[in-house]
Amino acid sequence: MNVEMINASPYDANTYLVNGKILIDTGMSPHNLHAEIEKHVDPKNIELIILTHCHYDHSGGAADIAQKSGAKVALHKDDVELLKDNMGSVASLFGHPAPAVMPSITYKGGEQIQISNTEKLEVIHTPGHTPGGICLYEPISKSLFSGDTVFPQGSIGRTDFMGGSSGELTKSIEKLTQLDVKILYPGHGIVTGDNVNAQIQLSLQMSAAMR
Ligand SMILES: [Zn+2]
Ligand SMILES: [Zn+2]
Repeated sequence: MNVEMINASPYDANTYLVNGKILIDTGMSPHNLHAEIEKHVDPKNIELIILTHCHYDHSGGAADIAQKSGAKVALHKDDVELLKDNMGSVASLFGHPAPAVMPSITYKGGEQIQISNTEKLEVIHTPGHTPGGICLYEPISKSLFSGDTVFPQGSIGRTDFMGGSSGELTKSIEKLTQLDVKILYPGHGIVTGDNVNAQIQLSLQMSAAMR
C-alpha cells in the first residue's frame, strides 16, 4: 500500500492519499489540498473519499474535491445527520456552515474496501469521538487509519462534542487493541511505526481512566 500524507494547513486534519486513488479525510482547505494532491497524481484519479467522521476539519474540503474529481464520498451512517448540522459537524467552531457534502456511500462497520488486487481496507466502527467514527485497517501492511479515535503516544479523541461518549470511546479503543498494528496514521499529528500496539494500549488506559 502506498500512502502519502498531505497536511494542507496546521489546522486541517491529516489527509492520506492511498494507492493514488483514495483519500482518507480531506481537511477543510480544498484549494491547498488540490495543489498538494497534484504533486502526486491527477486529482481526477481520485475515486473515493472516505471520511473518518463528520467533523469539519476532516470533511470541510470534501465537497470541492469530490466535485473536481468525480469521486464518491463515504461516511458511517451514524454521522450523516451530524454532518449536516453546524454544531454537530463543529463547522461553527471554525466560523463556517456545515460541510456542503452528502455522502453517496454509507458504512455500518465490517465493510471491506478493495484498494488493489490484494489489498483492502476494513471498516471498523469506533464510536466515542462521534457516533459514526470509523477506523480503517489494512491487514497486509498492518496499517491503521485512526481518525480522531486514537493518536500517537496514548492520546485519545475528545468526547465532549455533540454525540461524543467516553464509555463508547473506551469500548472502541478496546476493539483496536485486538488488531496487530505496525503503522498508525492518525487524524492529527505524526505517523508512527514505533511499537504501535503499546501506544494503543496506552490510549486504552487513558480512556478508561477518564470515564
Ligand atoms: Zn479532528
Ligand atoms: Zn473530530
